[in-house]
Amino acid sequence: MTNQPTIGVLALQGDVREHLAAIESSGARAIGVRRLSELESVDGLVIPGGESTTMSRLLTVFELLDPLRARLKDGMPAYGSCAGMILLASEILDTRADAQHLDGLDITVRRNAFGRQVDSFEADLDFTGIDGDPVRAVFIRAPWVERVGPGVEVLARVPEGLAADHIVAVRQGSVLATSFHPEVTGDRRVHQLFVDMVRGN
Ligand code: GLN
Repeated sequence: MTNQPTIGVLALQGDVREHLAAIESSGARAIGVRRLSELESVDGLVIPGGESTTMSRLLTVFELLDPLRARLKDGMPAYGSCAGMILLASEILDTRADAQHLDGLDITVRRNAFGRQVDSFEADLDFTGIDGDPVRAVFIRAPWVERVGPGVEVLARVPEGLAADHIVAVRQGSVLATSFHPEVTGDRRVHQLFVDMVRGN
């Protein structure tokens, strides 16, 4: 890897374009990943928001599920946002019985956890590892993290309101996940953190 790593964005479904742009403007090369050869060529992978059960099905259809599990097991850095966080979990609550997960993080997530009342909302978060202003977080039918394993660092929680204190950002080694969508705000600090993780890997 050079100083400019190549970071893939899983491009089966979801807000792929926004992540490609966010990665490019954070100092890495970005490519969409739909094929095994593309997965094999990247130094790290973003799993975007979208619909986790659909992405789970498409991972199987595109024959990427087992190769992706293998790369994660091998230590490939990954960042999952929203549906991506759900897919990276080791346990998913409130999902379909046939939904697959990738076991990249030792966490239990609850899908669509914030419920109807607060389906979509925004909040300013203190985010461990990101200095300066709080991170503006956009939540869209977001999951939260209900359990973290011993190796998992909690990076952010909902600060106030109905859902106060719920965990919405975590890191375990070289795997990062957020319940929210940093790709839509123009603030590149979460993507920058991930690019730095890939560089340091
Ligand atoms: N609710 C979606 C799911 O279960 C995730 C929403 C999102 O990624 N914005 O997959």
